[in-house]
Amino acid sequence: MRVLLDEDQLRVGVDQMANQILSRYGDQPLTIVAIMTGSLMLLADLSRRLTMPVRVSLIQASSYRGGTQSGDLWIRDDMMLDVSDRNVLVLDDIFDTGRTLQAVMRCVGQMRPRTLASAVLLHKQGRQVVSLQPDFVGFHIPDEFVVGYGLDYRDLYRNLPYLAILDPPEIEAL
Ligand code: 5GP
Ligand code: MG
Repeated sequence: MRVLLDEDQLRVGVDQMANQILSRYGDQPLTIVAIMTGSLMLLADLSRRLTMPVRVSLIQASSYRGGTQSGDLWIRDDMMLDVSDRNVLVLDDIFDTGRTLQAVMRCVGQMRPRTLASAVLLHKQGRQVVSLQPDFVGFHIPDEFVVGYGLDYRDLYRNLPYLAILDPPEIEAL
């Protein structure tokens, strides 16, 4: 495993994202819709840097079935708050093909928010198959499979405080 972003680097990136969000919304109330489970660490760290009134809502989406290959996409929205007429910010760990964020943005868009924007910690270079672009991005990273800081491989490594690249031999050995 190779460290791509250490704890200090992650903190700086999350700080910058929080400042951009604060300058966009000022002190208007914000409803964060965090896509579980990968955005858990980002949600905890980012939301604590925001000073406007914040509501936190969870939505579950998954396109990866355990491994590193894209599979079918499913969404569970039964834990959602009412977001109608709210400023809503959808949060995800990583923007890879973009299919997950696009599907969640469509789903939340149908719930009649006042405004709708998106923030991702990581934007993977050259992988996108959708025209949507996230409004706030923490880091642009190369096309590698990464784990840590919320991101998993077969449900492991989410608790790593840093972000690491998992190389193909390590992926196969597990
Ligand atoms: P997308 O729909 O944009 O292709 O994929 C987004 C989802 O795939 C993310 O929420 C994340 O769960 C998963 N994913 C994409 N790339 C990676 C990666 O490099 N590492 C991990 N652990 N998950 C990834
Ligand atoms: Mg995810």
